[in-house]
Amino acid sequence: MPAHIIDGKHLAAKIKNEIAEAIKKKKGRPCGLATVLVGKNAASAIYVASKRKAASEIGMKSISHELPAETSESELLSLIAHLNEDRSVDGILVQLPLPQHIRESRIIEAILPSKDVDGFHPLNLGYLLSGHPKMVACTPRGIMYLIDSVGYNCEGKLAVVVGASNIVGKPMALLLLQRNATVIICHRKTKDLAHLTRQADILVVAVGSPKLITKDHVKDQAFVVDVGINRDKDNKICGDVDFKEVARVASYITPVPGGVGPLTIAMLLKNTWQNYEEKES
Ligand code: NAP
Repeated sequence: MPAHIIDGKHLAAKIKNEIAEAIKKKKGRPCGLATVLVGKNAASAIYVASKRKAASEIGMKSISHELPAETSESELLSLIAHLNEDRSVDGILVQLPLPQHIRESRIIEAILPSKDVDGFHPLNLGYLLSGHPKMVACTPRGIMYLIDSVGYNCEGKLAVVVGASNIVGKPMALLLLQRNATVIICHRKTKDLAHLTRQADILVVAVGSPKLITKDHVKDQAFVVDVGINRDKDNKICGDVDFKEVARVASYITPVPGGVGPLTIAMLLKNTWQNYEEKES
């Protein structure tokens, strides 16, 4: 039987509607999301524009800062300090990657942890590691939502996460561990990747390598989550998983586009709204 394809767009729309309804009911100052884009990276500009659009659509105040590529680290730090102080700002998103002369870690660490709606601040990563998450990175949080949406129980399952970045792979592994899955994290130096992935009940792939995962990497009836966003030979958007092949063996699978991506944005809004509610209630 072919896999059940999880519709991330539909789930994201549901989350956004819920927040929009809550915003309508709330009196007082609007909830505000500040986005910061440095330079003219085309992909980053598209990502930021879609985040701003999503915020505006649900009635959030979207505050946009677009800075030239030559902005210095100290100028960017001054802007972050200003946004940290600004009571009308509930979430700060600095789009990565930043130009090379700016140290990303310095910028991430400068964001007030409560306004760190991307969940990248070391304090927020630490809360997650200690099992008491506060602001959780949007993509892994979205993936948990997607797994929960079909009532899948992670307890006791073997989860393999391919990719060990701070923004997807590592927090994903910690969230799965919190649900009592047994977790393996793979990376570039992992030996015999297919041997490990073939044992996975839950397989999350966040690598950035088009169609790396084929049906030979996947256990029958596995739950497969594809995070990758790549271009294939014909310049079409594709994931890290060979969707056509793997959908024949998996029980659940997320498509690219239309799977994890929309949930990442929805969770950014949810994190921002969560901070607003904590402050205003
Ligand atoms: P990243 O920072 O480049 O990390 C990639 C990870 O994959 C690294 O840990 C790397 O290993 C590992 N890796 C690379 N090639 C591998 C291979 N052949 N076998 C095993 N592991 C391999 O990337 P990222 O930011 O996590 O993003 C990963 C992908 O997800 C990208 O395509 C990105 O565009 C996409 N993404 C999508 C969303 C969304 O909302 N849908 C959000 C974020 C990211 P090493 O640690 O050894 O280098």
